Amino acid sequence: MEPPLPTKTCPVCKRDFEWRKKWEDDWENVKYCSERCRRHRDQASELDDEPEWTRDEDGMWIPPAHDDG
Ligand SMILES: [Zn+2]
Repeated sequence: MEPPLPTKTCPVCKRDFEWRKKWEDDWENVKYCSERCRRHRDQASELDDEPEWTRDEDGMWIPPAHDDG
């Protein structure tokens, strides 16, 4: 049995991620699960469990756009 890998919680996507070999020299400084999250860190406060709705000029709520590609 190998000991469990250390984990951290990504502040952007709120997911736990495991130690990876590529971080072995820099694990203490790793904060994000991926480069993508690291780049989105400035938007972290906007990311929520709830999708973001917006209002139009008439005050009507507009559902978040889907970007399924
Ligand atoms: Zn993440």
